[in-house]
Amino acid sequence: MCKADFRGSDRRLHKFVWLPPPTVAEPPPDMEYEAVIGLETHVQLKTKSKMWCGCANAFGSEPNTNVCPVCLGMPGVLPVANAEAMRLTVLTGYLLNCEIPRFAKFDRKNYFYPDSAKNYQVTQYDRPSTANGSVEFEFEGQLARVRITRAHLEEDVGKNNHFDRHSGVDFNRAGVPLLEIVSEPDLRGPEHAYTYLKALTDILVRGGISDCDMEKGMVRCDVNVSVRPKGSDTLGAKIEIKNMNSFSGVRRALEYEIPRQIEAVARGEKLRQETRRWDDVAGITEPMRSKEDAHDYRYFPEPDLMPFCPTDDWLADIRAAVPELPLQRKQRLMTAFGLPAGDAQVLTDNLPLGHFFEQAAAGFKNPKAIANWVINNLAAKLSEAFAEVGDVKFAPESLRELVELVDGGKISSKIAQEVFAEMFESGAKPGEIVEKRGLAQVSDTGAIEKLADDVIAANPGPAADFRAGKVAALNFLKGQLMKLSKGKANPALAGEILEKKLKA
Ligand code: ADP
Ligand code: ZN
Ligand code: MG
Repeated sequence: MCKADFRGSDRRLHKFVWLPPPTVAEPPPDMEYEAVIGLETHVQLKTKSKMWCGCANAFGSEPNTNVCPVCLGMPGVLPVANAEAMRLTVLTGYLLNCEIPRFAKFDRKNYFYPDSAKNYQVTQYDRPSTANGSVEFEFEGQLARVRITRAHLEEDVGKNNHFDRHSGVDFNRAGVPLLEIVSEPDLRGPEHAYTYLKALTDILVRGGISDCDMEKGMVRCDVNVSVRPKGSDTLGAKIEIKNMNSFSGVRRALEYEIPRQIEAVARGEKLRQETRRWDDVAGITEPMRSKEDAHDYRYFPEPDLMPFCPTDDWLADIRAAVPELPLQRKQRLMTAFGLPAGDAQVLTDNLPLGHFFEQAAAGFKNPKAIANWVINNLAAKLSEAFAEVGDVKFAPESLRELVELVDGGKISSKIAQEVFAEMFESGAKPGEIVEKRGLAQVSDTGAIEKLADDVIAANPGPAADFRAGKVAALNFLKGQLMKLSKGKANPALAGEILEKKLKA
């Protein structure tokens, strides 16, 4: 009946299909855009047991072997919070310069999906355990700072496994403590986001919070990205990307997604908030769901768990255990020891090597020489021998002694290499090695004069060349003298004496 009405009246039909003209004006062709990125990073905490029960928090076990009525969500069970997980959460807060509220609580996020037997996930909704922090890291030679909105504690859920003809759920992961670390939209590009993720996980590994092994699913990351005209301070429509399984996957997803959005906006298209899925093989993102499909999780306070109200003493103990962060360490090595940035970076990334350096260089006047020995020689010897810093046989102080022997002119730097090789083999002290093998540099003028006479006598040609004005011939003669002394003659003295004798 309706149809008949419309058919008779063109005007009415138009009234129903008419759409308002597009409100987005076509942007000028030379408009520049920037990306705005915020990351939600999930990190499994390194605890022995799960969040609410005594089951092992372990990777790689047979499916459904680390489970109990609590983490399987059986009716009538009660959760008991894991104290170590609470401690690691607060420690993370300190590592990320967060505030630690004196009141936090847990909430239920309700949804129906096979990976959660309980039909809800316990998380922290409006009162998280940490908030308002920041991560600092080096990016393109400058100090970058990304604000952290919050890091809240929640439980991991099970894992759906799909086979040819059926699917299964592995609940080993269900109830493993998980931190969700939410950044503010402070990141501006794929490399920036990648470097942030590296810096964040380095901090968490250093703090003993998590091993952050992305291949073992210990870190999972959702990326939120929008674009806007450069200089604008309003945010564009947020597009969330899921399903990256490596740090470089995050970078690649952004490398694809940002130009896609810019092209769309430059065409005059109005982007809408949506969730997209990264396809790692195809190297593209594709639509997953739009805002209209967003879940309503019906959050409500978890009735089986007390609010979390940390005491002063407990917080003070955790604060006292905050380790030095990688960036702080690098800067301290540069200022305290005058090391160049490259050396400081190596001695920060390789912590055992760095500790060895610090022990050897503490209070010593030539720390750069110690750094050279540690970074070049010691690291090379260790990797040749498939050994670790803990296996080094000589004491850090021996390295100081070695540098003193070189700096004091007692041995040449060439001989020092020999001494070092033996130190590494036997653990003997450098002074003793030099003594025992008679390696001390000859700075005795009489002995060198004797060698100079022999060299000049044995090489009449080059000696004549030098006298005829060919300066380079002196180097040849000096080389011969060093060879004759088996590398032990003081090279500077050898040069001086040869020259004096040739000119006499
Ligand atoms: P939701 O409520 O959908 O979880 P939030 O506002 O909590 O969204 O933000 C989630 C993440 O997305 C945060 O990391 C935040 O920095 C980032 N984000 C929010 N809005 C935008 C935007 N317009 N563009 C890019 N990232 C954004
Ligand atoms: Zn359990
Ligand atoms: Mg949010």
